[in-house]
Amino acid sequence: STIAKPHAPEPRSWCLDGREVDLLHYIYGRPDIKELRGNPQKVLAAIDDYHSNHNMLMNIGPVKGAHITGLIAEHKPSTMIELGGYIGYSAILFGDAVRANGGKQFYTLEKNPEMAAVANQLVELAGLRDVVHILIGSSDELLVELVRERREIDQIEMLFIDHWQELYLPDLWLLEEMGVLAQDRTLLIADNVIMPGAPQYLEWVKGSPEQKRAMVAKLNPGSLKPNPNLIYETEVPMFESDWGKDGLAITKVVGEVKG
Ligand code: SAM
Repeated sequence: STIAKPHAPEPRSWCLDGREVDLLHYIYGRPDIKELRGNPQKVLAAIDDYHSNHNMLMNIGPVKGAHITGLIAEHKPSTMIELGGYIGYSAILFGDAVRANGGKQFYTLEKNPEMAAVANQLVELAGLRDVVHILIGSSDELLVELVRERREIDQIEMLFIDHWQELYLPDLWLLEEMGVLAQDRTLLIADNVIMPGAPQYLEWVKGSPEQKRAMVAKLNPGSLKPNPNLIYETEVPMFESDWGKDGLAITKVVGEVKG
């Protein structure tokens, strides 16, 4: 089997069916729209209302979201990046938390331009235009652009991984290859690692260098160059959400053995 350079799958049938544009109509049709302007928490609450009373959206939601904003308050990243922006819920929540903790910017990488357009309106409404940067494209190509071409990122401080699960491991391998994961600095947070599940990603961030070398031999990384010598420490706290019981993988880079 191979997991190298998979194509992002087609949009899921239970989303991307017009509900995300309908969300904009809902938000801008609210009688309290003026109170939402420049108020990230009120914009998030309005999105939560839509999710609970109209159509479910695949946002991180308030429970797992609060856990991650706690990590932002501890870690205080100057820059945070997310893979998979959707309609901008997590970008608003985490961008606001990064700003509140003295940080400068939150990059959200989103492949679907329609979702990025919705996120753009909501980020603007929340008053986070100066902090949240929405980049449209495939996460792997945008990461290469940010690191190698624009040289805006030389170390990842905090990364939220929340696009399609089969892309988690190839994108982590790409970051390993580019040498931007730093000991005692980088914190990786991956959503939905239990449900729907990202088993290969979990195996990698929990594996020893020997186990990871065996995975590389089995999985065929193609042109990617994973670094099995990086040592990670990972915990997976569990949460109840509207989508069921699920875990976040929270991973620190704690060392590197000689190859
Ligand atoms: N982080 C968002 C939140 O909590 O509000 C939810 C993200 S949603 C679960 C996943 C998103 O990843 C979708 O909008 C999808 O279009 C996007 N996506 C899928 N493949 C991608 C890729 N290769 N690069 C960037 N985004 C991708």
